[in-house]
Amino acid sequence: MWQAEVRIDLDAIRDNVATLRAGTTAEIMAVVKADGYGHGMLPAARAALAGGATWLGVATLDEALTLRRAGLTVPVLAWLNAPGMPLHEGAEAGVDLNAGSLGQLGELVTAARRAQRPVRAHLKLDTGLARGGATPADWPALLEAAAKAQADGELEVVGIWSHFVYADAPGHETIDHQLAVFAEGLATAERYGIEPRYRHIANSAATLTRPDAHYDLVRPGVAIYGLCPLPGPPPVRLRPAMTARARITQTKRVPAGQGVSYGHAYHTSREATLALVPLGYGDGVPRHASNVGPVLLGDAVRTIAGRVCMDQFVLDCGDDPVAAGDVATLFGPGDHGEPTATDWADAIGTINYEIVTRFGGSRIPRVYDGSVPGSGGSDDPGSRGADGSGQV
Ligand SMILES: *Cc1c(COP(=O)(O)O)cnc(C)c1O
Repeated sequence: MWQAEVRIDLDAIRDNVATLRAGTTAEIMAVVKADGYGHGMLPAARAALAGGATWLGVATLDEALTLRRAGLTVPVLAWLNAPGMPLHEGAEAGVDLNAGSLGQLGELVTAARRAQRPVRAHLKLDTGLARGGATPADWPALLEAAAKAQADGELEVVGIWSHFVYADAPGHETIDHQLAVFAEGLATAERYGIEPRYRHIANSAATLTRPDAHYDLVRPGVAIYGLCPLPGPPPVRLRPAMTARARITQTKRVPAGQGVSYGHAYHTSREATLALVPLGYGDGVPRHASNVGPVLLGDAVRTIAGRVCMDQFVLDCGDDPVAAGDVATLFGPGDHGEPTATDWADAIGTINYEIVTRFGGSRIPRVYDGSVPGSGGSDDPGSRGADGSGQV
């Protein structure tokens, strides 16, 4: 018997990838960092591969090694590694690694020597985000060092890549500008004799809106989980994969003017039935959802009454017939009138990415639905806690 659960529809992830796949000639790197945006890294990865992804993308070496240990042999790029990380383990496991500075390139060379095999490297050009990567000014020096390491057999430059500032605002001037800087960076690389098999810059938003940015490989993350990074309806059919819900643990009648939850930040306007939902910020519900988070209970979407606590929050149900054991749905695909993660993001002033990712690693059992490998098995290393029966 469950009291709260996060259900993941792995077929939705597979189908979302297949939909993206149908819209491009590029290969697809499914981004499964941060525990697959909260969906479970390994099941999400397997579902994405079943949908036609041929690469996996993660932030950290640790995530990449977890994919390898699970037996996934497809190319994996890990792009965020601090100095001193055991990158030779990545090299030994055939993990592709990022170099966006001379220091990072040096670490790759050291790792290659230690592993006694060339490291598969992706050189990152900072085309304007000013996050990782070499600025155009520093780019030639990085290329020169990479060309030397490649000639020495320590490095194989597999990719040149970059990342967008504002692809979720189609038409934004930074997009064309970054593409121009990227094209120039590729031309410069060619002059250094570096012409990698994979050039990649497109995240979900650019995958959905800018075919001219697809190059050889696209790196969608949020879209494979069925969420759209763009304002308005998605340009292709995407199905949200995560549903978060819980059973009401208690209901009670209270008089008008009753203050509710910590700080009494909400007061009933009339006599009402309150319903207690056993989910809180310890589970991934943002505390910022206090008094604004939308929840489907019974026939109505209600707004959280008062503060979200660590383990629970309250709904004011008026005179509606709600009872302990009823199911409250925080968000899902929207099939039954429930809010979506995007509705939650809009309500609390964040992005849908954060809503689903917060539920990763929480104590709520995650249950997998679907026909792809990794579905519904409590023996799957990515599933936890639940019986995996797929039924309630
Ligand atoms: C997270 C990430 C992505 C995926 O971005 P989405 O907007 O979720 O598609 C792609 N590339 C890099 C470098 C990232 O950090």
